[in-house]
Amino acid sequence: MITEISANFYRITLRMPYRLRHVHAYLLAQDKKLALFDTGLNIPGAYETLEKDVTGAGFSINDIRHIFLTHVHTDHCSMAGILQKKTDAKIYVSAAALIEYKHFRQADSAVSLARQFYSRHGMSAHEIEMVIEEYEDMRGIIAEFDTKDFLLNNEVREFGDWKFEVIFTPGHATGHVCFLFRKEGILLAGDHILPYIAPSLSPNIFDDNFRPLQTYLDSLNVIEKLPIATIYPGHGNSFGGVSERLSEIRDHHAQRKQLIFGFVNEIPKTTYTLANEIFGSNMPDFEKFLALNETFVYLQELKFEGRIKEKMDGKVLFYTTC
Ligand SMILES: [Zn+2]
Repeated sequence: MITEISANFYRITLRMPYRLRHVHAYLLAQDKKLALFDTGLNIPGAYETLEKDVTGAGFSINDIRHIFLTHVHTDHCSMAGILQKKTDAKIYVSAAALIEYKHFRQADSAVSLARQFYSRHGMSAHEIEMVIEEYEDMRGIIAEFDTKDFLLNNEVREFGDWKFEVIFTPGHATGHVCFLFRKEGILLAGDHILPYIAPSLSPNIFDDNFRPLQTYLDSLNVIEKLPIATIYPGHGNSFGGVSERLSEIRDHHAQRKQLIFGFVNEIPKTTYTLANEIFGSNMPDFEKFLALNETFVYLQELKFEGRIKEKMDGKVLFYTTC
C-alpha cells in the first residue's frame, strides 16, 4: 500500500509474516527520480508489491536512483540488492552497518560465534540449533548488495530540492541511522523510535564491547535535541510528541532493568535461566531467543554498574548479586 504523506513524499507499507506484521519504506520524488528509504522484507511477492505501489503512484521502479538504509535488519534492507540489480540504484548505509551486513553474510564465522555466544549464556544445544536455523533463514533472505558510499554522522545529503541530515543512532542495531529533514521537521526513524513498542535490543555477537542499552539510550538523547515535529517510523503510524515518547521508552528500560535485577540473587544463574524465570519458559523457541537477548542486554548494564557479578564456570557465564 502506498500513501502520499505530503507532496512528493510517500509511505509504502509492505507485509511481514511475523511479529509487527508490516514494515514501511519511504519514497521521495523529484521530477521523475526517486529516492527510497529502506526496502521492506524480501518475501515472495514483496518485490512485485513494491513495484505495483511505485507504478500506482505514477512512477516506474526504474526511477529509483538512490536507496538509503536505516539499518541492515532483514525487514529494512533485504530487497536492496534486488532493487540495485533491477534499477542500478546506489545504496547508502553507514560503514558500521555494512560491517554488520558482511559479518552476517559470512556463514561459518556467524554460525560459530552464535553457537559460542548462546551456549556461554546457558542455552541448550537443541535451542541453539533453532537459533542457527533462524540465522540461516534470515541470511538467505537478504539479497546481496554492495556499496562504497558510506553515510557519515551529521552530514547533509541532497536529493533534488530535498535536503536531509544523517543522524547516527546506534543501539537497536550497531550501524543504525535516522534521517532528519530539518526544514520539514520530519525524522525517518527506522527502528530507533517506534510508536507502540520499545524497539528490541540484542547483543552484537561479533562485538563483545558493544553495549546495546547504553548505546541506545545515548542515541535517544541525540534525538531529543533535534527539531522534530513528526516521526515516521519503520513500523506503525507516524507521531509527534517526541519528548513524551522518549520518556516512555526510557521508563520502560529502567523498569525492565530493575525487574531483571530483582531476579538475580546469591544463587548463580545463567542468562537463559533468568530469561525463563522472568519471561516464562512456555514460549515458542524464537520468543525464548528474544527473551534471552533482552535479558542479556540488561544483565550487561547491571554488571557495568557494579550491581551484579558475572563468573565463568566451565564455558558458561553465571550471574549473582554482589
Ligand atoms: Zn530493526
